[in-house]
Amino acid sequence: MAAEKTLAIVLRVIEFSETSCVVTLYTREFGKITGLAKGARRKKSPFESALDVLALVRLVFLRKTPPAMDLLTEAKLERRFRAGAADLGRLYAAYYVIELLLVLTEGGESQPELYDLAEETICLLDDGGTNPSAILAAFELGLLQILGHQPMLTACVDCGRQVPEQATRFSFCSVSGGIVCTRCRSGKTGVLSLSREARDWMLGQLESEHAPAHRVLELSPRGRVEVRQVLNHFENSLVGYRLPVQEFLS
Ligand SMILES: [Zn+2]
Repeated sequence: MAAEKTLAIVLRVIEFSETSCVVTLYTREFGKITGLAKGARRKKSPFESALDVLALVRLVFLRKTPPAMDLLTEAKLERRFRAGAADLGRLYAAYYVIELLLVLTEGGESQPELYDLAEETICLLDDGGTNPSAILAAFELGLLQILGHQPMLTACVDCGRQVPEQATRFSFCSVSGGIVCTRCRSGKTGVLSLSREARDWMLGQLESEHAPAHRVLELSPRGRVEVRQVLNHFENSLVGYRLPVQEFLS
């Protein structure tokens, strides 16, 4: 069987035996994979301590037929995430990138544009991007768009009526997946209020053709709180439970 080579982000490492680990990675060419890294816990191994959560690696692995696990044979470290020691905000933002890749992507589905977005986001957070919460929110909107879960922000998600141009606040329903008009809003629970600033910022991110590093990310503190709330509720409704890392996101 030919070995596959790909860039990958380490998502999760579980100790499997005294010397081995089971590792889940998001790869550029093959999507999310889980494989056994034999000997990875030995000092001298073909993995050279590269298999840490958030590390970007060059991976070599052998694909197996499910339900057998893929076999990881080599990993070379491209970049280790170092910002965590200095800034917990950036570390938790990066952990949330990992959490979303773990819970929202399917195994074995190749989406190189999602890999590129995630890698760029992790590097931006590691490099000390000035606004980790906005960098994270821009990633989340990009991920939702790529995965086909883009929230509806220009018309009522239930009846399709355009939202009034002069509106200053909007009602966002996380279960429906977007803004709802006053008529469709009645009787719904868990509807969040969204300012025009926050709505326009989210829409701007969804419509932007630029990579996150070249986007305008400024958003008022109040707007940041609103965007965080909307994304938390929306992502929780997609997975059906409260995502643990959200507790640590400011
Ligand atoms: Zn409606």
